[in-house]
Amino acid sequence: MDADCIFCKIIRGEAPSTMLYQDEYAVAFKDIAPIAPVHVLIVPRQHIVSAAEVTAENAPLIGHLIAVAARLARELGIAERGYRLVTNIGREGGQSVFHLHWHLLGGRQMRGLG
Ligand code: 5GP
Ligand code: ZN
Repeated sequence: MDADCIFCKIIRGEAPSTMLYQDEYAVAFKDIAPIAPVHVLIVPRQHIVSAAEVTAENAPLIGHLIAVAARLARELGIAERGYRLVTNIGREGGQSVFHLHWHLLGGRQMRGLG
């Protein structure tokens, strides 16, 4: 837990969000500034700064997050057509919230990588 982290605040219910999924290890909520018809953030409850901080110890958690993303993609009706899962690392990687998360992006054709 990081007192100043917006995603930790959302997880604790101290900041608003449109929550789509919650379990013991992960939450998923709508991105506040969507760039696609479906734009959901899949976030571990544990405050891990980015994928660069992942260790063998929390590797199972990462698998769980990907499975949650796949399940949400099915539930949101984009699994058949395809979608994108993205995690940004550091400033130059485009990361702006320093709490590990995956962007689930879909509902339109994805192009390029940035
Ligand atoms: P990053 O730039 O770190 O890869 O992604 C952070 C994402 O979090 C951005 O897409 C941004 O729109 C989203 N975001 C930032 N603050 C909030 C917030 O308070 N609520 C929600 N739902 N999304 C947020
Ligand atoms: Zn956090």
